[in-house]
Amino acid sequence: MRDVLEQIRERATEEIKKAGGMEELNQVRVKFLGKKGDLTQVLRGMGQLSPEERPVVGQLANRVRDHIESRLDLRREELCRAERNARLAAEVLDVTLPGKPVIMGRNHPLTQVVNQIKEIFTGMGYTIAEGPEIELDYYNFEALNLPKDHPARDMQDSFYITDEMLLRTHTSPVQVRTMEKMVPELPIRIICPGKVYRRDDDATHSPMFHQVEGLLVDERVTLADLKGTLLAFARQMFGEDRQIRLRPSYFPFTEPSAEVDISCIMCGGTGCRVCGGSGWLEILGCGMVHPRVLENVGYDPQKVSGFAFGMGVERITMLKYGIDDLRLLFENDVRFLSQF
Ligand SMILES: [Zn+2]
Repeated sequence: MRDVLEQIRERATEEIKKAGGMEELNQVRVKFLGKKGDLTQVLRGMGQLSPEERPVVGQLANRVRDHIESRLDLRREELCRAERNARLAAEVLDVTLPGKPVIMGRNHPLTQVVNQIKEIFTGMGYTIAEGPEIELDYYNFEALNLPKDHPARDMQDSFYITDEMLLRTHTSPVQVRTMEKMVPELPIRIICPGKVYRRDDDATHSPMFHQVEGLLVDERVTLADLKGTLLAFARQMFGEDRQIRLRPSYFPFTEPSAEVDISCIMCGGTGCRVCGGSGWLEILGCGMVHPRVLENVGYDPQKVSGFAFGMGVERITMLKYGIDDLRLLFENDVRFLSQF
């Protein structure tokens, strides 16, 4: 019996070694370990052995089976590796072949301009502040010196959700929220980019548009600081030879207030069709923060002053790229957008 087992072990080992493929290896397994396999036959015949011999032969048979199984595993791994190597050798990759071009998307011109504005002002030490687009009447109007009966509210026809809640008409409420959080700390130096909403819709107005407002609050801030800041901005945005001028204007939350023009980017100031012959293009509104606004958030207007400015991103974009219809920016026509 032992001889038979030993012989099975040797034959199996030999045949496993010779098996040249998975299929062949499987046949060897069936031949020795299968239901009708050689080793199985031996185990079946164990009933004829004496009770003393049975456990000894049984143990030996188990060892032979374990041996065959481990050899089968090893050979299977070897064959796998060989197959993989053969496949890799056959599938040569030519890295010099030109790749398929990847179609790159790009930022929307408005996003590009917002990013550029952010870059210019963060370069001057400003940080970026954001706030909710659904805003309380208090932050959108009242805290900015626009009480409920104020006639200037008519300039900003709004989308109301309730009597006390609306879609913000400008990003100024972010300034108020920031000041409230910061008071009494100084300085405050922020820009607030974001979407705003008004009930307007024509070639130069959209019910949703973008603003970037800026706010600086500190001791001894003057109109000269404001003008210097805006000149630096205008030159970085529209070219180093830009001039700016401030024209007196009115906003409820600044005093004094001004509109800011840059020298025309088409004619340089001599007068053309784009600037209507004046040589100037309006780009933003600004002013010194109204003492009442400072007071509303808890600063002492006797000790603290500040300036604020706000610009429409659409207008800046249209001027910068010579776009004559605002609606082009919102139609999502790839032929238009891919030019930027
Ligand atoms: Zn011009």
